[in-house]
Amino acid sequence: MKKLLGLILFLGASLLQVIAENVQVAGPDGKLQVTVSCPPGGRVYYSVTYDGKPMLRRSPLGMKTNIGDFTQGLSVTSHVTRPIEKTYRQDRIKTSEIHYQANELIFAVENVRKQKMYVTFRVSNNDIAFRYTLERDGETGSVVVNDEATGFRFPEQTTTFLTPQSDAMIGWKRTKPSYEEGYVVDAPMHRISQYGHGFTFPCLFKVGEDGWVLVSETNVDSRYCASRLSDVKEGSLYKLEFPMPEENNGNGTVAPAFALPGSTPWRTITVGKTLEPIVETTIPWDVVEPRYEASCDYQMGRGTWSWILWQDGSINYDDQLKYIDLAAAMNFEYVLIDNWWDTYIGYEKMEKLIKYAQSKGVDAFVWHSSSGYWNDIEQGPVHLMDNPIQRKKQMKWLKEQGVKGIKVDFFGGDKQETMRLYEAILSDANDYGLMVIFHGCTLPRGWERMYPNYVGSEAVLASENLVFNQHSCDMESFSAALHPFIRNTVGCMEFGGTFLNKRLNKGNDGGTVRRTTDVFQLATAVLFQNPIQNFALAPNNLTDAPQICLDFMKTIPTEWDEIRYIDGYPGKYVVLARRNGEKWYVAAINAEKSTLKLNVDLSFLDGKTVKWYDDDKNLQPQLTEKKLKAGKPVRLTLASEGGVVIVAE
Ligand code: CA
Repeated sequence: MKKLLGLILFLGASLLQVIAENVQVAGPDGKLQVTVSCPPGGRVYYSVTYDGKPMLRRSPLGMKTNIGDFTQGLSVTSHVTRPIEKTYRQDRIKTSEIHYQANELIFAVENVRKQKMYVTFRVSNNDIAFRYTLERDGETGSVVVNDEATGFRFPEQTTTFLTPQSDAMIGWKRTKPSYEEGYVVDAPMHRISQYGHGFTFPCLFKVGEDGWVLVSETNVDSRYCASRLSDVKEGSLYKLEFPMPEENNGNGTVAPAFALPGSTPWRTITVGKTLEPIVETTIPWDVVEPRYEASCDYQMGRGTWSWILWQDGSINYDDQLKYIDLAAAMNFEYVLIDNWWDTYIGYEKMEKLIKYAQSKGVDAFVWHSSSGYWNDIEQGPVHLMDNPIQRKKQMKWLKEQGVKGIKVDFFGGDKQETMRLYEAILSDANDYGLMVIFHGCTLPRGWERMYPNYVGSEAVLASENLVFNQHSCDMESFSAALHPFIRNTVGCMEFGGTFLNKRLNKGNDGGTVRRTTDVFQLATAVLFQNPIQNFALAPNNLTDAPQICLDFMKTIPTEWDEIRYIDGYPGKYVVLARRNGEKWYVAAINAEKSTLKLNVDLSFLDGKTVKWYDDDKNLQPQLTEKKLKAGKPVRLTLASEGGVVIVAE
């Protein structure tokens, strides 16, 4: 009897071992497959294939915490799989109606002290989201995560499209890191990042000819820090890293903590044979839920801002009037009054200015510094957003003036302490009916769905750099041909672009030289997605810019119902389509040195008569009408640093 029991136990254990060796979960169409294993030795790994091709090789999972080690000595206790399906509506992102279908695997392990860790995978047709969950441990109700083993090991042939994490406490008024670094594309995996601190999310990888992988994270709030990827280790492994100790002027811990039971953020992996699933992914929002209800009906729209071309000197009453009048002339909803207004306009005259704007049908966004004790910013107003007492007092004043939103600039990095500040500002702002744009900031991680008054983040080398230096102008088309595939696909991007000045200064007669065509600029108004777009138009454009460009900008939407990837290659060219209601916009730009001729499939516009904006022989914008023949590819001719925009109703 004892022998039999022993045999059963042995068989049971072996069976469990076999199961634990290879637990698989696939997306609904079966192409994307995750294999999770916990081989003898007690470490947990996962690997990913798409259509049978390896996309991630055996990569580590687990974490080291102050209540226990969940990286080794682990054994599998259970694993269950179930289908998940949800349909939701979401404003402020690339798609308005989303049907999310996935298979969920909960893979439970325990360590030698019998403490459990659950690894949850959600696998849809092209997206994987995974996270760790810990239970309450008897009397222990909270945990500090000292390190995650989480890693991403790519096949040998992989090349990378990455932007580095900056050193902390460097740059303008010691405000970095702020996700404002350049990209290196088509680089081998062994290339070390510029600062030696790895790379910021999202991270794009090309797995030879087998496909593309985008790695990022979502659901990051006050209960964790924001993470990044390390430089490559062991030739092909990128490890998840926490913030650097120096961030936030050294204040705040690097190691995140949360109450038990609790979970880490979701880490996301988007996989495709082409770039289509990466451009169209909604995974940052599929696995998160709204944190609170909107206190009012927030209206998206377009704005003007004097600061971008006229800079600090324009933050005075009279220049602001000109930009309010410009917004009114363009049928824009907003004016953004940027830094120093507290000094150079003052609170009393601001009240008058905001009333003037309202009399013209224009509402105001007003700039604030986030700091604080984490940088050297002196542009005012300072020290109002960093603590709840001053913040709520200021927001009360803003609400009384009828201000609709704030732009909060210059944050301290990615530590949990700073994530708390983002969430506190958003939550308080909602109480006062204010929308929030962040600049000098981290990547948004699911925030459009989590926070109903969140309307934008910079987290990119944005339009200001085109004004600051010629190199950015020379690189403009290259950078613009990256964002739809990388930065902007996981979250809204407040780039602040679409210049119609040829020279990027106040007089349109000096400063940096714009290399790209006017139609290129119009195309970026479609390519770059942010639900509030502050465009870089200037009052002189009303008389010196082509009328067809002004007319285009007067009706360009900032909210979209659908996105379609058409064609492209990061850094070289991009063609994509966005739909607002019944109206389609197809936007294409070319960053290559020579003219690009493409045959693209626009069959969703078959038979339609469309407005066609492109560059003429002299690279001036022209507008024609064309009827698209049914069943035929559409021929696009894209000048170097030029573009095409097609509008179909
Ligand atoms: Ca900036």
